[in-house]
Amino acid sequence: MVMKEYLVYINGEFVPRSKAVVSVFDHGFLYGDGIFEGIRSYSGNVFCLKEHVKRLYESAKSILLTIPMTPEEMEQAIVETLQRNDLADAYIRVVVSRGPGDLGLDPRSCTRPNVIIIAEALALFPQELYEKGLRIVTVPTRRNIPDALNPKIKSLNYLNNVLIRMEATQSGVMEALTLNQEGYVCEGSGDNVFIVKNGKILTPPTYLGALEGITRNVVIELCEHLGISCKEEPFTRHDVYVADEIFLTGTAAEMIPVVEVDSRIIGDGKPGPVTKRLIEEFRKLTKVRGTKVPGLSPLSA
Ligand code: PMP
Repeated sequence: MVMKEYLVYINGEFVPRSKAVVSVFDHGFLYGDGIFEGIRSYSGNVFCLKEHVKRLYESAKSILLTIPMTPEEMEQAIVETLQRNDLADAYIRVVVSRGPGDLGLDPRSCTRPNVIIIAEALALFPQELYEKGLRIVTVPTRRNIPDALNPKIKSLNYLNNVLIRMEATQSGVMEALTLNQEGYVCEGSGDNVFIVKNGKILTPPTYLGALEGITRNVVIELCEHLGISCKEEPFTRHDVYVADEIFLTGTAAEMIPVVEVDSRIIGDGKPGPVTKRLIEEFRKLTKVRGTKVPGLSPLSA
């Protein structure tokens, strides 16, 4: 069977995946100097496209990076990348790096950012775990302190997250929770965390050190809509261990229940009713909230 070679958007051109390369002098490669977004499309609907593009431009502003196109042009380029690849269900990675420059740190030597859009099919966790729930651990690596590199900036500097993910693997699980310097729970390696106790939901405030996840915001909004109490409040590992239910949220992870943390069984070891209800409502939203991509074939997954 001939595998389809996806096309990658690089600075306005569409290049086959195997030829999609950038300079080794790109400061994104040399220093992690750049930003990115992970976006998802469901049945030809780019979920929360505007929110993702807004966060991309906010990350860029924070690191003094000028993206050489307007947010509207960026949205259009993302839509076109899906159309060119005829992808209705895809994970989309947008990367804007500082671009090629000298070997020194000073970004003034970089004349033009590289804008890259990759769209591919992606399944982060095996499908059965969405039904059965994940086993996770807490790990020794702490989240970056917001004063050093604010985790709200979705920068290319993801070494902290990579280390957290590696520690999860070393413990034989697929995801981990990281704490901040004071021992409060922050988030997963690439997702936000929610706990449910006595029907009320808590998620860590972003000032503790967490990305302001777009899925997280959607879930907070959903709770409001459904009349479920959901607060941004600090909590500890102990609160996690004695929670009735836990779930993670993220564009790649979507919404996934957690049934075990550090060998403590959560609730009765099965995804709980609040989590299941929210997942059901969330799935409905993914098909309708966002930007429709015209012209895709119906089975283009
Ligand atoms: N935290 C981190 C560290 C992330 O990288 C991500 C996105 N992958 C999230 C949380 C979830 O954010 P979103 O819902 O916007 O994908």
